[in-house]
Amino acid sequence: MENCIFCKIIAREIPGHIVYEDEHVLAFLDISQTTEGHTLIIPKKHRVDVFEMDAPKMEQVFAVVPKIATALKKTFNCRGINMVNNNGEAAGQTVFHYHVHLIPRYEKDQFGMRFVNNMQDYDTEDLAALKVRIKTNL
Ligand code: AMP
Ligand code: ZN
Repeated sequence: MENCIFCKIIAREIPGHIVYEDEHVLAFLDISQTTEGHTLIIPKKHRVDVFEMDAPKMEQVFAVVPKIATALKKTFNCRGINMVNNNGEAAGQTVFHYHVHLIPRYEKDQFGMRFVNNMQDYDTEDLAALKVRIKTNL
């Protein structure tokens, strides 16, 4: 895909610190190194986001996740790893080639992303109604 920075890394048109590669998947260091070892895993075939992924492509990407996560733990002795995937601008995606972040965590309070808890706004009936709406579209 023209003008896609990750496709350029795959094609070796720009440098990337590639830690793993197979026929379908590439893993390389995120340039921002949110924490030491921050790594991205991507499909080699350009897909924008989860909405363009299919099950086999997902399988190829996620098949590599335990391997890289284990290597990061072994290498950096991190205490945990966040696995993050942003889809769409509203979700914070900035590079529009599907990618999974592996972000090692070293301290209890280092976790930078908290989920807001709105459970006071949803009773059992509300949740049941949401469930029905989602299931209608499955
Ligand atoms: P996201 O915000 O989820 O789309 O994540 C995009 C990530 O790509 C960010 O964490 C950037 O630091 C990272 N990134 C952008 N350009 C490069 C690059 N040339 N090499 C490695 N990582 C990059
Ligand atoms: Zn791409």
